[in-house]
Amino acid sequence: MSYSEKTRAMYQGVLQGLMDAGLLKQERYIHSPQAADIEVEFPSGSSLKKVINMCANNYLGLSSHPEVIKAAHAGLDSRGYGMSSVRFICGTQDIHRELEHIVTKFLGTEDTILFPSCMDANAGVFEAILTKDDVMISDRLVHASLIDGIRLCSAMQDTFKHSDMAHLEQKLAMHQDRRLRLVITDGVFSMDGDTAKLDEMVALCRKYDAMLLVDESHASGFIGKTGRGTHEKYGVVGEIDVITTTFGKALGGATGGCVSGRKELVDMCRQKARPYLFSNSIAPVIVEGVLKVFEILNASTERRDKLEWNAAYWRKGLQEAGFVLKEGDTPIVPVMLFNAKLAQDFSRLLYEEGVYAVGFFFPVVPQGQARLRTQLSAGHDKHHLDKALGAFVKAGQKLDILGKSRQEIIDRFGM
Ligand SMILES: *Cc1c(COP(=O)(O)O)cnc(C)c1O
Repeated sequence: MSYSEKTRAMYQGVLQGLMDAGLLKQERYIHSPQAADIEVEFPSGSSLKKVINMCANNYLGLSSHPEVIKAAHAGLDSRGYGMSSVRFICGTQDIHRELEHIVTKFLGTEDTILFPSCMDANAGVFEAILTKDDVMISDRLVHASLIDGIRLCSAMQDTFKHSDMAHLEQKLAMHQDRRLRLVITDGVFSMDGDTAKLDEMVALCRKYDAMLLVDESHASGFIGKTGRGTHEKYGVVGEIDVITTTFGKALGGATGGCVSGRKELVDMCRQKARPYLFSNSIAPVIVEGVLKVFEILNASTERRDKLEWNAAYWRKGLQEAGFVLKEGDTPIVPVMLFNAKLAQDFSRLLYEEGVYAVGFFFPVVPQGQARLRTQLSAGHDKHHLDKALGAFVKAGQKLDILGKSRQEIIDRFGM
């Protein structure tokens, strides 16, 4: 027997262990389109509940925008449903190339190559542009997909302490004997909502002859004055060698990603990046949807401006209520609870009050740093935020954590 009772029992034990530790992730079924108001079935089999979504990556509220849906419908009619091919065999339509041009222009880079997802972009880019003679120096808190891409690359690996520029400089100085140095960071760190100091990083890379790669998945479309990303916020548009980003968050929220940057690096990806060579093209319907998203963003900054207002209002409200927050100025506002079970209990109480925000805990965040990561959207109106704040305060009172410090919460609930 290939799957013996003993093997089955072993896996059941592992899963039970996660359950017992309060670490088991459970899906909640959404029966409506993605939006500020959603209809959720949770627990499985229960009747639908209308709740306010406070944890989507739908930063610009474009995931169910009527114009995007209309463009996708038109794309479906004019270009069909699927490509049944990877890009280089027979999976490239004119609209794929058009989207690459538009992304290039938006991000202020030299060229762009689409990938099925940003996970795939990150999985493919390193091995495509580096060799064993090079070194990758990454921030210690980069996204899991960058870590996986780094693992798939034969270049030497090193790290620097999170956002610690002195430590990065030390590492850059240390690796001057390598053929190439590539510094790797997230633009906005998704778990904490802080931003990489890209102006200082660009300067260091220049001083020590290194390239810089920034994953902008939680930034493209809304960070910076016109929403181009973290490089715009820090005044270094045109100076990032490689940007990777996703269309699965602010930019319509469907799927797809890209590598955008120096022309030769993009050309190298087109020749060598394995997810580009061996995984299917982005479906035409999604390409047309993303093209419409960029048309909307290029016409006005109204959405990112509203998002910025929402984020400031929300952060201030939580702060005044007495929650422990992570410092920052992005639409990612983590409410720190430290203990995994407390995070789950808090999430459940919120849900009862009609607010949807899931708990994050190990291994998604480090042990002892459990939290609710709240995320704002331009799809939220003030009444959503006021209602959600009310629910947070009520749950906070019930668990008696308002006005309590990190230490007080840990003393009572453990890590
Ligand atoms: C979400 C995310 C990804 C993955 O994007 P997909 O297109 O969904 O694969 C990659 N990097 C970061 C930083 C992300 O937050």
